[in-house]
Amino acid sequence: MNSNKTILIVDDSQFNIQILSDILQEKSYKIALAKSGEMALEFVKAQKPDLILLDIMMPDLNGFEVCKSLKNNQKTANIPIIFISGLDKSKDIVKGFQAGAVDYIVKPFQKEVVLARVNTHLKLNETQKKLEKTNNELKKLLDEVKYLSFHDEMTDLYNRRYFENELDRLSNSRQLPITIFVADIDRLKFINDNYGHNKGDQYIKAAADILKRSTRSEDIVARIGGDEFAIILTESGFEAAKIIFDRIRANVIEYNNRNQLVESLEISIGFSIKVKDDENIDNIFQQADEMMYNNKGKNTTLKKYNFSSY
Ligand SMILES: [Mg+2]
Repeated sequence: MNSNKTILIVDDSQFNIQILSDILQEKSYKIALAKSGEMALEFVKAQKPDLILLDIMMPDLNGFEVCKSLKNNQKTANIPIIFISGLDKSKDIVKGFQAGAVDYIVKPFQKEVVLARVNTHLKLNETQKKLEKTNNELKKLLDEVKYLSFHDEMTDLYNRRYFENELDRLSNSRQLPITIFVADIDRLKFINDNYGHNKGDQYIKAAADILKRSTRSEDIVARIGGDEFAIILTESGFEAAKIIFDRIRANVIEYNNRNQLVESLEISIGFSIKVKDDENIDNIFQQADEMMYNNKGKNTTLKKYNFSSY
């Protein structure tokens, strides 16, 4: 089980290296050697060991410096480092931990103690890695859950929950005007009943795509029911509404021309604009919804609204 774990021994004394290698090889660890701090850093750049046994007193780069350097690098910060040194004063031991080591063994040491500590820290490190992996997976899942809780799976648009939250959030907004569009696919039930739900879903996706393409990136486009959509345009009044409406209409016409469907895609649209502070945004939504219903079946996407009478 130990055979797949690599331990890097860093020591300027060949004698010390030999003793430690012998102890660890008995337990089938893979051993790597570095005779100086520089060599240790070079080695780690090329290959990450599972644990490092690090001497302190070495010419040029000493053990504390090597340890700090590894801990400061994100790629190597997680490798457990155990100091193994003749320096036995409390202040040296404390300095070792401050440099980021997980343990400190004072020389002369007992073989069993070295093995026990190495084994313990390898296990701890393994557990920590597993926890980090699980943690990352959980974070990813949570992001996914968050995304799904505010998006419609079929169309990738925002869902009704998000739309209602936005209405709440905007109910006291002073950044007026706010325009709300309600759009509804005509005869979707007929299409579902006669051509199947897969066909119906294609119409829903096409409508979603058209609404998304017809709006600006900052606009909120949501699917709020089976065949019903809503759009919120903030700080946008009549002029913006007219531009968006014209784009939707042009895109629907273009879609129908390109696809030559037996049943053409038709979308009924209503909209309403909140201009004043004291207008209730829920009422604005209601008005847009009513206008949509009044236009139902009149193929309003192909007809120009009389914008001047609005
Ligand atoms: Mg030394």
